[in-house]
Amino acid sequence: MTAGDATAGAIGAIQFDPVRLPASAQALRREVRAFLADEIAAGTFDPRRTVTSAVFDPGFSRRVGARGWIGMTWPRRYGGGERSFLDRYVVTEEFRVANAPVGLHFTADRQSGPMLLRYGSEPIKDAILPRITRGECCFCIGMSEPGSGSDLFAAATRAVRCDGGWRVTGTKVWTTAAHRADYMIGLFRTSPRTAADRRHGLTQFLVDMRTPGIAVSTISDMSGRREFDEVAFDDALIPDDHVLGAVDLAWQQATSELAYERSGPERFLETSYLLLELVRVLGATDDRRSLEGVGRLVAQLHTLRRMSVSVAGMLEAGKEPVLEGSIVKDLGTSWQQTLPARARDLTAFLEPGADRAVFDALLDYATLAAPKLTIQGGTTEILRGIIARGLGLR
Ligand SMILES: Cc1cc2nc3c(=O)[nH]c(=O)nc-3n(C[C@H](O)[C@H](O)[C@H](O)COP(=O)(O)OP(=O)(O)OC[C@H]3O[C@@H](n4cnc5c(N)ncnc54)[C@H](O)[C@@H]3O)c2cc1C
Repeated sequence: MTAGDATAGAIGAIQFDPVRLPASAQALRREVRAFLADEIAAGTFDPRRTVTSAVFDPGFSRRVGARGWIGMTWPRRYGGGERSFLDRYVVTEEFRVANAPVGLHFTADRQSGPMLLRYGSEPIKDAILPRITRGECCFCIGMSEPGSGSDLFAAATRAVRCDGGWRVTGTKVWTTAAHRADYMIGLFRTSPRTAADRRHGLTQFLVDMRTPGIAVSTISDMSGRREFDEVAFDDALIPDDHVLGAVDLAWQQATSELAYERSGPERFLETSYLLLELVRVLGATDDRRSLEGVGRLVAQLHTLRRMSVSVAGMLEAGKEPVLEGSIVKDLGTSWQQTLPARARDLTAFLEPGADRAVFDALLDYATLAAPKLTIQGGTTEILRGIIARGLGLR
């Protein structure tokens, strides 16, 4: 094989199917926009808010649940809607662009519910999934630890078998929304790793956050948000039927869910409020440089969106676009991280004035939020490693 052949094969490993949203999804978009307009008019939230105080709103989540927009793709018998991932895509996209307060249900809807569907026992699915779809149940993800983040296989929080269950001791960190969560899906060490396989020995558990022996302390990030926590386990008892999947073999359970986590519209729309505000503050300017700059940003965003919709369509078709999902997350992160500097640059000619106040506050916030984008949901270096491996380059 020549070098040229190798390159052609490597590029062939990336495949973004040309997916378009169906007409049903576009009709749903109108419905979601009308719902959000009513919520904004009623004062539930302000899409241009400058602080993140209102990300968590139980009343809002319950109303979203009542519309059937949580667990949309899940089976009806668990409260789901049996709709397509493309329908779900539209709902996620509209909520994100509107900066809607989805904090209570977002993680459960995207990740934890699908995990329970796949690995939970029937009684657990019957008890918890309908509560998630009603917008009444908040989940957090307990993977990272003080000594293991990117390298999850180094997790040391241990779960030891006892009568009726498992005793858990150790510490999880950077756990988003642990202080509000009803449940965690935690990754704990149930056996030592083996010489043959360093991934061996980890198990996933459903953890009721009210269990005695669990202490949650909130951590402030550099923008002042208090959204994530340290969670200390001290001999906390987890019942046996809360094991999710096979004991010691959690590594085999990493599936297409990672592609869902990485490729959704939230991965490039988290700071989209800044682009909308940039367009508003520039108004009817005829400054060619600004117009050209905004045009570039919008074209790049459009491309990211096409790629992200494509991944959603491939997931709907039963494919596992892990490589493509990683590319969307990596490019989405880069785009969002350059956005504050571009926005500052493109508005440099504008006079400071009252009309800029919201823009300036959002710009400040987006600047402080930008560094974390590289870390959450898989660091840039780790994602590029996955992409390189997928391309056969390492
Ligand atoms: C806003 C936010 C929310 C989060 N929410 C959660 C949550 O809900 N639950 C949870 O479990 N975790 C959460 N995390 C934690 C996050 O998943 C970890 O911080 C992340 O996995 C990185 O781990 P680490 O901090 O230990 O850094 P490390 O893994 O020590 O990485 C440090 C640096 O080294 C680089 N690096 C590490 N390994 C390699 C390698 N093999 N090759 C090349 N470079 C490498 C990394 O890219 C990074 O730049 C959150 C983080 C943030 C910022």
